[in-house]
Amino acid sequence: MQTEQSRQLFQKAQTLIPGGVNSPVRACKSVACDPLFIARAEGSKIYDIDGNTFVDFLGSWGPMIMGHNPPPVVEAIKNALANGTSYGAPCPAEVELAELVCGALPSVEKVRFVSSGTEATMSAVRLARGYTGKKMIVKFDGCYHGHADSFLVKAGSGVITLGIPGSPGVPDDIVKNTISIPYNDLETLEKTLRDPKLDIACVIVEPVAGNMGVIPPKAGFHEGLRSLTKELGIVLIFDEVITGFRLAYGGAQSYYNIMPDLTCLGKIIGGGLPVGAYGGKKEIMNQIAPEGPVYQAGTLSGNPLAMAAGIATLKALSAPGFYDRLNEKAADFAKSLTDIAAKHMPATTLNRVGSMMTNFFTASPVTDFTSAMQADPAKYASFYREMLAQGIYLAPSQFEAMFISAAHSPEDLAATLEKTEWSFKKMSK
Ligand SMILES: *Cc1c(COP(=O)(O)O)cnc(C)c1O
Repeated sequence: MQTEQSRQLFQKAQTLIPGGVNSPVRACKSVACDPLFIARAEGSKIYDIDGNTFVDFLGSWGPMIMGHNPPPVVEAIKNALANGTSYGAPCPAEVELAELVCGALPSVEKVRFVSSGTEATMSAVRLARGYTGKKMIVKFDGCYHGHADSFLVKAGSGVITLGIPGSPGVPDDIVKNTISIPYNDLETLEKTLRDPKLDIACVIVEPVAGNMGVIPPKAGFHEGLRSLTKELGIVLIFDEVITGFRLAYGGAQSYYNIMPDLTCLGKIIGGGLPVGAYGGKKEIMNQIAPEGPVYQAGTLSGNPLAMAAGIATLKALSAPGFYDRLNEKAADFAKSLTDIAAKHMPATTLNRVGSMMTNFFTASPVTDFTSAMQADPAKYASFYREMLAQGIYLAPSQFEAMFISAAHSPEDLAATLEKTEWSFKKMSK
C-alpha cells in the first residue's frame, strides 16, 4: 500500500495543528501508524489521497449509518445551500427536525439543538443541576461524554489511548463534583445514590457503552438505574450520542424500553454535519433560557444546512424495516466473525448490540472498564494494520466500536470476513 502523500501531508500538518489532527484518536497512535488523509467517501467506501480504497467500518465514528453521501441527504444539503448557510434567526427546518426528534424518541417532549455531542452533554448536565439545585454528577468508568471539564474522569477511549487518567487543565475543584463508578454494577450505584452526604443532581450514562469498546448493559441494569433515580429525585440522562438512531429509530430508550429524563444526541442526527441536541421532559426543558433561567446558546445552532441533513437522514431512517434489516445484517456478520475467531483467534470476545460491535483481544467477558482493560491493545494494533493493508478501515483503537451501515454490501462483508481470517491466521503464526 502506497501512503507517501499522506505521510508528507501528516508531516506538514504536525507543524500547523497539534499532533497533526483536530481530534486525538485520529492520529492513530495506539495502532502505531500514521493517519491516512481522506480525499473522499461514497457508500461503504473511503478513498485516501494516495489512491487507496477502503471498506469503511469507522463511519466517521458513528454518524454514517446509511454509508457516505446518501443521495437524499446530499440533495437536501444542496437545496438548503441555495438559500444561504446561516441566518442567526429561526428557520422552518429547526421546527421540522424538532418534530421528527420528539416523534422518534419516546421520552423527548422538547429539544434544543447544538452543534456537537460535547455541547449536548455539557448543557444537559447544567440543566440537571439548574433544575434540581444540586451539584454532584455520577458517571460510569470508561463512558465518554465529550470533552467538557466535568466528564474528563475515567473517560474512555481517547484518554485511555493517551494513557492519562483525566486531563491537565481540568481543575480539581471541578472534577471533585464528578463521581465515576463501575458500569453494570448496580450495588455500587445504589450505595452511591443513597449516600446522604452526596448532593447528586444527575446520573449520565451511555445506555450501551461505546467508548471503551462496545459493552452492553447487563439485564436489569437500566431498570435499576431508572427506579433508583426516580425514587431519589435524581435526573437520569441517557447519552445517546452514539445509540440515538443507531440501535433503533427511538434509540436505546426504545430498544430497552427505559424512559430517561433527559437525552443527549449527536453523530447520526446531523447526517454527517455538525449537530447535537438535548431534550426531554417539558418540565425540565422549560428551565432553559429564554423560557427559564438556565443559560445555553449557540451562534450556529439550528444551522439550516445541518438541519436539512438531519431531516433527510431521519426521514430515510424511519422507513419501515430499516433497523430490522441493518441489525440482522450485523448479527449475521458478527456470527461469522465469531466462528472465524473461534478457529483462528480464540482469545477474543465479541460484544455486539445492533449494528455496533467490538472484538476484544481477550478471552474473558468484557462487562465494564476493568474487564475491557484486559484486552491486548498491541494485538489489536497488529490486527488493525493487517486489515488496513488489505483495504479494510477499522477504528484505530481497541476501545472503539465497529459500525455496520446500510451501505455495506454482502460483498463488502464477505471480503471483510475473508481478510479477517487471513489476518488472524497470520497473527497466530
Ligand atoms: C462522540 C460522543 C460524544 C461527544 O460528541 P462530539 O460531537 O464528539 O462532541 C458524547 N457522548 C458520546 C457517547 C459519544 O460517543
